[in-house]
Amino acid sequence: MQSGSSSMSGASSDLTKTFAVKLMENLIVPTFVLDPSGKVIIWNFACERLTGLPASQVIGTDKHWMGLYRTKRPCLADLVLRGASEDVEGLYVVDHSETFGDSGLSAENWCEPPNCGGRRRYLAFDAGPIFGERGELIAVVETLRDMTVQKEAQMALEALASQDGLTGIANRRVFDEVLARECATASERRRPLSLLMIDIDHFKRYNDALGHQSGDDCLRRTAAILSAAMESPSSLVARYGGEEFVAVLPDTDLAGALDVAERILADLSQAAMPHPGLAPAAKLSVSIGAATREHHATTPERLLSIADASLYRAKSLGRNRVVAAQRTSTLMAAI
Ligand code: GH3
Ligand code: MG
Ligand code: MG
Repeated sequence: MQSGSSSMSGASSDLTKTFAVKLMENLIVPTFVLDPSGKVIIWNFACERLTGLPASQVIGTDKHWMGLYRTKRPCLADLVLRGASEDVEGLYVVDHSETFGDSGLSAENWCEPPNCGGRRRYLAFDAGPIFGERGELIAVVETLRDMTVQKEAQMALEALASQDGLTGIANRRVFDEVLARECATASERRRPLSLLMIDIDHFKRYNDALGHQSGDDCLRRTAAILSAAMESPSSLVARYGGEEFVAVLPDTDLAGALDVAERILADLSQAAMPHPGLAPAAKLSVSIGAATREHHATTPERLLSIADASLYRAKSLGRNRVVAAQRTSTLMAAI
């Protein structure tokens, strides 16, 4: 009787297990399960669809990483298994490990599943342990969510928010952030930092002669020429407003800043954009004010006001030139 009842409950338990496995396999959420040795015991249909890696190639192996990455590396479930939550930060771009209970982990990452033809997918992962009746670890479950569309939309919005709408280069907001950051870095590392303020000469007359539309085209072209004149990838060109541009030149002393400024003047001269508002054969030019901080603390505001004063001086000296001031009082007196 007892054995009968026991075999009944064994059969019902088997049924429950079969049902649980079927449920997991057909779950709409891409899911895989590792046993305590790190081998895959479930790789459900949704996971096959998302990654393109068939269950037959991964069940019984520790090759689940192949469904997500090109080279071998731990997945979130492996970190749960090893209790290595401290590794999440180095392996994932977004780490939510602190918000997902004591032993579970959540994180996000760019992946290259085999079925995406080299295109990246942005996936969110949640991994958690499953314990037996005696508290022993019996499995780790990891679920995957495809967040590519949301991530790309977020990135496009971020790009839009940092771009100048007309010229496509960085906008004033980005410039303010970068200048503040570079000023702090230059102070910390005792490195030079230069700033160029660049203003198109007689632009009002350009608009008056050729129309606002041509003026817009001219701003776009000037922005492209300025961007191309930067030598270092760490330099930033931004539209400051109207027909004024700025360039932040990290790790650049006064001589380096003057080199960049002279190159801008030469490149614009070579572009030979007609400026009929000035004279029939006149060409478009800019005036540039340069400011450099070398091994002493200067605030972004101070650097800007020195560059602005230098620009004003360049205008009053006849335009199409660069004027530089290296530092505050003494050299300010020189310009
Ligand atoms: P200066 O050599 O002293 O700098 O003279 P300027 O004429 O360039 O300077 P001013 O400040 O008198 O005029 C700037 C002009 O730039 C006036 C304004 O209509 C024009 N401008 C500002 N933003 C835009 C823009 O987005 N598109 C166009 N087409 N023109 C703009
Ligand atoms: Mg101006
Ligand atoms: Mg101007």
